[in-house]
Amino acid sequence: MKVLLVLGDGMADEPLPELGGRTPLEAARTPSFDRIAREGACGLLRTIPPGCEAGSDIASLSILGYDPREHYTGRGPLEAASMGISLGRGDIAYRCNLVTVRDGVMEDFSAGHIPSREGAPLIRAVAAGMDGVSLHAGISYRNLMVVPDGSGAETTPPHDIVGQPTGPYLPKGEDAPRLIRAMERSREILRAQPVNRERIARGERPATMIWPWSGGRTPRLQPFRDRYGVSGAMISAVDLLNGIARLAGMEVIRVPGATGYLDTDYDAKARYGRDALERSDFLYLHVEAPDEAGHMGSVEEKVRAIERVDGMLGKILESFDGIVAVLPDHPTPIRLKTHTADPVPFAVRGIGTDGCRRLTEREAAGGSLGLREAADLLPLLLGKAARPGPGKGG
Ligand SMILES: [Zn+2]
Repeated sequence: MKVLLVLGDGMADEPLPELGGRTPLEAARTPSFDRIAREGACGLLRTIPPGCEAGSDIASLSILGYDPREHYTGRGPLEAASMGISLGRGDIAYRCNLVTVRDGVMEDFSAGHIPSREGAPLIRAVAAGMDGVSLHAGISYRNLMVVPDGSGAETTPPHDIVGQPTGPYLPKGEDAPRLIRAMERSREILRAQPVNRERIARGERPATMIWPWSGGRTPRLQPFRDRYGVSGAMISAVDLLNGIARLAGMEVIRVPGATGYLDTDYDAKARYGRDALERSDFLYLHVEAPDEAGHMGSVEEKVRAIERVDGMLGKILESFDGIVAVLPDHPTPIRLKTHTADPVPFAVRGIGTDGCRRLTEREAAGGSLGLREAADLLPLLLGKAARPGPGKGG
């Protein structure tokens, strides 16, 4: 039996006065989610283990059965995997933003969302002037730094310190001197770049320096097929999730038109999803849009994004009668505009029914599946326990 897991990022929320005391999931028209709930059963899932940060990377590791407390080392190595960069044993990979720092203040964590066609040559110019670390150009302001034979450093996400002096937030710990030297050198190199002079002339923010953060070594994940005895595939526009899938040996399927934003191509995702289910036993189909709407604090966009995820599922259900789970990875409440670690509602078709009618926070809280740990979900869907791994990853 084939298994489809539809993950609507950040869908869970709170009752909102704008919606007459309903949550976005309750207010949205979701015939396909409702069908899964009616034909199946509901419950709550704890996706963020205590002490972990409420993020999609942590939640997705948990849902795939890899305990983040054991396996999560940082964003850098997951993004490296997604970019197809393989790290050596001693390498530490950091996410490396192009940022705008002026007068010692973090003005913009994204250097004005610099486009790749301008960011990539800047990163190449900085890379040419570095010794002791290497740089890889990514998309827009999101690049990668690799520190060979590194020991790690305590770093600060640049989006957390916008408008603040950067001095107190420079890297600390063993690798800090190498990182800070690279950051200082990048400032000299970037100052002289024509791309930056043109950006300033157009009234746009220049990329004044690089900012490495969230570094770690490559986690070693037991291959998905060894763990569950079936093949797995991932469809997501988010690098972190594609990186996890690649490290778990799952097939990573890139969908043209999938943007990771509100305008993503839902029909293309449905089409590629159907194809993937012909080949793979298990498909993790992730849609980022509801989370983006939550961060924007837009009730309308969130309801619309949920309805579009539902429509995408509807297209797949036209020709798929296997096991289906629908869930968010974490709540992104409109009121808070950020993630929380609360358990999320989930509905599963194909493992019995319990009288649930809809996938909502309230119905799921009374569902027959109760409150479960994320690591229990795939064994529940696949009808078998995960096989023990080879021990702790490095
Ligand atoms: Zn988010």
